[in-house]
Amino acid sequence: MSETIIPIAGVIGSPIGHSRSPKLHRHWLKVYGLAGEYIPLHVEPDDLAQVIHALPKMGFVGVNITIPHKIAVLNLADLVTDRATLIGAANTLIFRKDGKIHADNTDGYGFIANLRQEAPDWDPAAGPAAVLGAGGAARAVIASLLESGVPEILLANRTRPKADALRAEFGTRLRVVDWVQAGNMLEEATTVVNTTSLGMVGGAEFRVPLDGLRPGTVVTDLVYNPLRTHFLAEAEAAGCVTVDGLGMLLHQAVPAFERWFGIRPEVTPELRAAALA
Ligand code: NAP
Repeated sequence: MSETIIPIAGVIGSPIGHSRSPKLHRHWLKVYGLAGEYIPLHVEPDDLAQVIHALPKMGFVGVNITIPHKIAVLNLADLVTDRATLIGAANTLIFRKDGKIHADNTDGYGFIANLRQEAPDWDPAAGPAAVLGAGGAARAVIASLLESGVPEILLANRTRPKADALRAEFGTRLRVVDWVQAGNMLEEATTVVNTTSLGMVGGAEFRVPLDGLRPGTVVTDLVYNPLRTHFLAEAEAAGCVTVDGLGMLLHQAVPAFERWFGIRPEVTPELRAAALA
């Protein structure tokens, strides 16, 4: 008699204790009545390759990848999606039945899906987008905004050479603005995104002047701890349409869950509550 194998997925990082991904995937497994497990795995960089190659042999159907492994996993995959190549990092691995490891990046998808769900009237083509920050998350945001049809991206980062490097890579629809001028670029924007870690609990405060924000502008923050950041509260007071960052985390998990467990799950208020619990 053949044994029923329960599909296992997980998230690999270091540290990993803070990850909310187990809560999301376990919520969906329960809601959809699926047999499956989702496990946080603390893995150090030196062990990454060995662990990734061992997991499919233990019943794993795939894993999420988080800091500090998002770039390193690209070299361990047999296939890398175009969007992961463009972003230069992967957050999802799929262990295929033929033994091949498939790497994808769903952060940009999650970013756009969150805006579309929470700000249904958002029109990326309405005007320039202003992006604060040029780290790993900014790459996914910029790639997906360009794909969505924003005419131009104004980009400011404390360390300007990092913004210049993104312009060299992503092309002429990016215009780099000095960090000290970041407040001014908001006047032109119809979409504004904070991709810096400013405003996060325990971190540095967000101090970019926001008086240039125009009413009706769609403003989103990738920081979701706290959920209502100072940046979003000020934007709301200025009459902007605000979208918090938790939804991006929830939506980026959708394509991975579908590939691993065979059902496309929904992002619901219950899922948000489960992620925050
Ligand atoms: P990262 O690669 O380390 O980049 C950090 C960014 O923040 C850089 O642009 C950095 O500027 C800027 N920054 C940090 N401290 C600053 C300060 N004191 N003043 C001005 N700028 C500062 O991190 P990441 O992976 O891009 O993540 C950025 C944030 O997005 C984090 O809070 C993360 O939790 C969040 N995030 C959320 C989601 C989601 O699903 N909602 C997904 C991914 C990331 P420099 O280049 O000058 O250092």
